[in-house]
Amino acid sequence: MTDESVHEGFAPRGSAAGTAGSAATAVTVATGLRGHLGPLTTGYDVAMLDLDGVVYVGADAVPGVPEALAEARREGMRLTFVTNNAARTTDAVAHHLTELGIEADADEVVNSAQVAAHYLSDRFPAGSPVLVIGGEGLFVALGDRGLRGVSSATESPVAVVQGYSPDVGWAMLAEGSVAIRAGALWVATNLDSTVPSPRGPLPGNGSMVAALRHATGVVPIATGKPDPTMHRETVERSGARAPLVVGDRLDTDIEGASAVGCDSILVLSGVTNPIDLLTAPPHHRATYLGRDVSALLFAHPDVVTVGDTTECAQWAVEVHDRTLTLRSRASPDGESPTEDGLDPLRALCGAAWAADPGGTDSSPWACVASDSASSQALKDLDLG
Ligand SMILES: [Mg+2]
Repeated sequence: MTDESVHEGFAPRGSAAGTAGSAATAVTVATGLRGHLGPLTTGYDVAMLDLDGVVYVGADAVPGVPEALAEARREGMRLTFVTNNAARTTDAVAHHLTELGIEADADEVVNSAQVAAHYLSDRFPAGSPVLVIGGEGLFVALGDRGLRGVSSATESPVAVVQGYSPDVGWAMLAEGSVAIRAGALWVATNLDSTVPSPRGPLPGNGSMVAALRHATGVVPIATGKPDPTMHRETVERSGARAPLVVGDRLDTDIEGASAVGCDSILVLSGVTNPIDLLTAPPHHRATYLGRDVSALLFAHPDVVTVGDTTECAQWAVEVHDRTLTLRSRASPDGESPTEDGLDPLRALCGAAWAADPGGTDSSPWACVASDSASSQALKDLDLG
């Protein structure tokens, strides 16, 4: 879906170009990371939240997230839930969220099954048979768009749609193989290589797609994140003026935000580690960093690079070759550290990104501490 026009982008309320006297002021700096004087809930009207690795991991909520989302709603932020997981219906997702103590309506959920079905309904007449490799969510989404989900290649499907479900196995892949070889259009809801679980990353839809791609030699169209369609549909549905993407994956959530021109926050509650962030190419660089969704509720410090030195709150980073040297420094203007303890990571990312603006060097960064506080900070981030 590379034929989509590029969205013109969005500005947070109270950004540098915003209304004077606003509670929140964003300052753009060359590192790519931005500061925000008030809580992010005061600068953005709609949070577009990824689910797996952001709101929950496996069946359970990320600790503290239900309370943080309730507080964000109280502060006037609207929430939408945008997931590449096509296994379940929006009703089932909303029900699961409600069980976890998160207020959610099915209308606030956008899943990749809906977006794939929308894509197919734009191309095939109502009633067309579409082979499903996936779960209930895909059958319902196809039905909502007037298409007919089928389970066998003998029904001469015009298309094959493939999305994550724990029930996908060899038999479903075999039906898909037959239909694709017969000329059916193949659409994957997403290409996430893994899904987060309490046991660590497990094979995601992209891994199952890779098996079928290996077997057929055909490359599918992928309609989920990072394709801009999902976030664009969410913006249209919610009427967001200043949306903020909240995600845990660089190559889907953050790349999808970049593609549609939205600001984003990368949270560390899912699949991304601090070390991954340092080498992120420009389209994988988030506007803000947080440990989890509670990062919506506080201000974010500026990250400023001058020459070889990048500063963020009580931390400074110097860059030499491919080495980042972290040191603690006196509190500037009595500023207190951000409560999530991620200011050292903000400084390190700002330094690494400013030193390689094009993201052309993918070799790893070495992180070095210059005092005991920075040594502890690097250990806490698994960088030391
Ligand atoms: Mg995720």
